[in-house]
Amino acid sequence: MAHYDFDLFVIGAGSGGVRAARMASGLGVKVAIAENRYLGGTCVNVGCVPKKLFVYASHFREDFQAAQGFGWVVNKPHFEWAHLLSQKNQEIARLQGIYEGLLTNSGVTLIEGQASLLDAHTVRVGEQAYRCERILIATGGWPSIPDFPGKEYVVSSNEMFVLEKLPDRILIAGGGYIAVEFAGIMHGLGVKTTLCYRGDKLLRGFDEDVRDFVAQEMRKKGIDILFNTQIKVIEKTDSRFIATTDQGQHLEADLVLYATGRSPNSVGLGLEVLGVELDAKGAIKVNESYQTNIPSLYALGDVTDRMNLTPVATAEAMALVNSLYSDQRTPVDYDNIPTAVFSQPCIGTVGLTEAVARNRYEDIDSYKSVFTPMKHTLSGFGEKTLMKMIVRRSTDRVLGIHMVGADASEIIQGMAVAIRAGATKAVFDSTIGIHPTAAEEFVTMRKRVE
Ligand SMILES: Cc1cc2nc3c(=O)[nH]c(=O)nc-3n(C[C@H](O)[C@H](O)[C@H](O)COP(=O)(O)OP(=O)(O)OC[C@H]3O[C@@H](n4cnc5c(N)ncnc54)[C@H](O)[C@@H]3O)c2cc1C
Repeated sequence: MAHYDFDLFVIGAGSGGVRAARMASGLGVKVAIAENRYLGGTCVNVGCVPKKLFVYASHFREDFQAAQGFGWVVNKPHFEWAHLLSQKNQEIARLQGIYEGLLTNSGVTLIEGQASLLDAHTVRVGEQAYRCERILIATGGWPSIPDFPGKEYVVSSNEMFVLEKLPDRILIAGGGYIAVEFAGIMHGLGVKTTLCYRGDKLLRGFDEDVRDFVAQEMRKKGIDILFNTQIKVIEKTDSRFIATTDQGQHLEADLVLYATGRSPNSVGLGLEVLGVELDAKGAIKVNESYQTNIPSLYALGDVTDRMNLTPVATAEAMALVNSLYSDQRTPVDYDNIPTAVFSQPCIGTVGLTEAVARNRYEDIDSYKSVFTPMKHTLSGFGEKTLMKMIVRRSTDRVLGIHMVGADASEIIQGMAVAIRAGATKAVFDSTIGIHPTAAEEFVTMRKRVE
């Protein structure tokens, strides 16, 4: 019998890798995990967690203003970026400690360093080589910035979490969720924010009403959004950057953020030598069991570039470990995965967009409601909320639910359960609302959009 140092060697201690390692170890598997940067991966260090903390921080500006409509006398609030960074760093250090504890307490061997593959059963970290029965690649993704003159002056989302000081003006390139979220964060923290996107709407893949509505609300708050505009060149003067666009504008900023996409972290692992199949973007190709074309190698999470979300990476990890080491089967259902964009206002969405639903079925009804949420009747902001429901007439099944407004990310989680359970419109209609809330709108939508 072949001798192995480990039954399972996981490369990358991010959302997917940590979950797989812990679970496998809990099932009696001998597991090692290698991490070259930070425990917890993107989500904990430069993704979901610090981003959401920044969203909270940035929203206070509006909250202080809104409070005045409710009778509060607010002296001029003052924001300190350094304090937020230090608080955020402390929280992340705490989470990293928790991750380390979870791994070591569950018996996983934690190896610090850059891992690469020597062959289909051998991982090298530094000078050490480890023989392993199976290897799981969970190395995530990395910001990708296109080549253009002035590329060296821009930052990615990674640097946004460690900026020494806040700029007075920021130019953000991109129209995906990271660009949109940082636009809200920066604007909320008092930075003059311009979003520049080559497409004609933000957030490709989202419902068209959501795309239009969120851009409209962001503009109302004061974010400058330039559509159909691409930066051609960035020049640096003493203290600022000037971006020239294909529309002939010269946009001045003190910081330029490129949030134009992420690439799978598959370079430098030795995959080419082993002949591991990658797609055109460099994502590792896997079958429905997360196995690559080399039978002892598996991959999941962002490095496979499917649905790049933390709960998807952890669900894939559980599915893989269960299928390899237990008699449980917990396959991931990629339909109806709810997502949120922590824009301001926030987006929550689950299921089909209206366009996809109409493309797939002939009998689609759409219900839509746009209203001023109660808080903003007194806040003086005029911020609106959008709620939308997509229903198939012949089955009465609710196929999609979309919301832009405060707490959309919280509200949509429950809606996702209803959609997965196959709830019909009649079930929604017979559900008693919680009053007064925005969410009750979802059980009182009676008028179809003609
Ligand atoms: C700004 C931002 C905001 C986001 N917000 C959200 C959100 O709100 N909700 C959500 O669900 N998702 C969000 N995401 C996406 C989420 O962070 C990822 O989907 C998730 O982290 C993917 O997990 P993973 O395990 O595949 O990879 P990762 O979490 O990226 O972990 C990969 C790990 O592998 C390590 N590694 C890489 N190569 C090697 C090597 N050769 N040797 C050793 N270690 C290696 C890396 O250092 C990293 O720690 C966000 C991402 C970003 C960038």
